[in-house]
Amino acid sequence: MPVEYDLLIKGGRIYDGSGMPSYLGDVGVRGGKIVELGRLNGKARQVINVDGLAVSPGFIDFHTHLDAQLLWDPLATSSCWHGVTTVIPGNCGLALAPARPQDRQGILQSFVRVEAMPMSALKEGVPWDWTTYPEYLRKLDQRLGVNVAPLMGHCAVRQYVMGEDACARAATADEIERMKDLVREGVRAGARGFSTNQNPVHMREDGRPIPSRLATEEEILALASVLGELNCGSVQISQGSLGVSNETEKSIGFFNRLAQESGRPVIWQSIAHRWDQPDLWRTHLKMAESALAEGIPSYPLCNARLFNNRFTLKNAQVFDDLPTWKQMMFIPFEQRAQLFRNPEVRAKLRFEGLEDKRSSRFSRRWDLVYFIKAANAEHQYLERKSVAEIARLRKQDVIDAFLDLSLEEGLEAQFQTSSTNGDEVAVAEILRSPFTLVGQSDAGAHLIYDAGYGYATRFLGYWIRERNVMSVEEGVRKLTFMVASIFGLHDRGLVRPGMAADLVVFDPETVCDSEPEMVTDLPAGEKRLVQKAQGVKTTVVNGQVLTEDGQHTGAFPGRVLGNMSMGL
Ligand SMILES: [Zn+2]
Repeated sequence: MPVEYDLLIKGGRIYDGSGMPSYLGDVGVRGGKIVELGRLNGKARQVINVDGLAVSPGFIDFHTHLDAQLLWDPLATSSCWHGVTTVIPGNCGLALAPARPQDRQGILQSFVRVEAMPMSALKEGVPWDWTTYPEYLRKLDQRLGVNVAPLMGHCAVRQYVMGEDACARAATADEIERMKDLVREGVRAGARGFSTNQNPVHMREDGRPIPSRLATEEEILALASVLGELNCGSVQISQGSLGVSNETEKSIGFFNRLAQESGRPVIWQSIAHRWDQPDLWRTHLKMAESALAEGIPSYPLCNARLFNNRFTLKNAQVFDDLPTWKQMMFIPFEQRAQLFRNPEVRAKLRFEGLEDKRSSRFSRRWDLVYFIKAANAEHQYLERKSVAEIARLRKQDVIDAFLDLSLEEGLEAQFQTSSTNGDEVAVAEILRSPFTLVGQSDAGAHLIYDAGYGYATRFLGYWIRERNVMSVEEGVRKLTFMVASIFGLHDRGLVRPGMAADLVVFDPETVCDSEPEMVTDLPAGEKRLVQKAQGVKTTVVNGQVLTEDGQHTGAFPGRVLGNMSMGL
């Protein structure tokens, strides 16, 4: 019998990405593509029996900062452990190309400050043997485990044309034309679009604003118009202004205008619940909904994770909106501990941290502040409990329980809480909306503070299995076909004959993200958090098995995905 398939995945439950009901069946793969579905008995070079587990398109992580990491880690760990088969770097205006030798330092300084990556790791890990965007893509394409569909970053483009002036002033008409040429060249070579960032807090390590912050609306519209002219690519934009309610309308209005004038999809950042303005997300969601109802392809992104802050009373920023609490963080430890014992100070802390009604990013919800790590063994039995629970056990009020426990632990007690996305009821509604893109992993960034690689496993495990926010079919659609459609990855995101064989096999009964762990595996011996997954059995990239039970098979089947509409 002749060999019909390179790979045959037998006995799966196929969630095909369209949102249609899942069904039992086999997937036949040949030449990197899905060739047949159904009950397949042909001969195959490799057969994987999956015994009723879910088979779906590989997940597409559209919000990553893996630009540098991919150069030393072609698997894009930890993303590849969570069923991600394609990553999109180059978000938030930050990218590593184009770059002349004199631009490199400024580019790295942006990554260091905005995305919290250590300079020593970047210096050692980024080989800089490119100048132009096409050269950078060729470099990336040399060895990849996952597929990469990068965006061009506004900061690099601006710096290339304007040098250090990019951080200081608006561009001239001539400079904008030269930036347009660079975007044209990059998109023709395979960039999937363009990203920009006007977040007012985003600075370089040297304190200068990142270049894209100096761009006028006209400049942004002009650069996005290149995508319209080429009829290809998407625009990702972050302005950091959506937390300010009176700026919301202006910002979202501009995002919509960008989509309308360029004729290309816009992905804007982001819809989240905030304790200081607990209903603002509803306004954002309504505005997104009405733009899409008018046929404007302007999509908000959202996060399946809570933004957790870990802190001790030696170093806490979560209380920065509460004056007495904030003041305490600048006092030497011993004196600070004494003040925490002082009844008058404690009364002030109680008022600000519990009773005061003034707006604060800290929720004042002590049932949402968790004790995560004890310094003293005798307190270990309290780990993972909320301060509210601990207060009940200790028969104290929450402020006394929190401060006394911290004092007994020499201020080393570790807690965790979230200022954004902390209200699960709100987050469930945001995730459930058919208009939101679920992601925002920031993979490759904020390396020692946070690990968001597992947004997909968290979405499937926590929100879908445990909280039942939607069906697995609908969840898979949001993680695959919806993303592929918006980013123009038209041969991915569905399990159908003719599509690229990017697949993930997972167990819907057990899939979830694991607790992040600190490892020392970055260039220059730097540390980062990694995150494993549970319930992800196999990932397949372009028809080749990339991981089995979280282990790399040794294959490097990934590539830089060209623009299909341009015949690349
Ligand atoms: Zn970002």
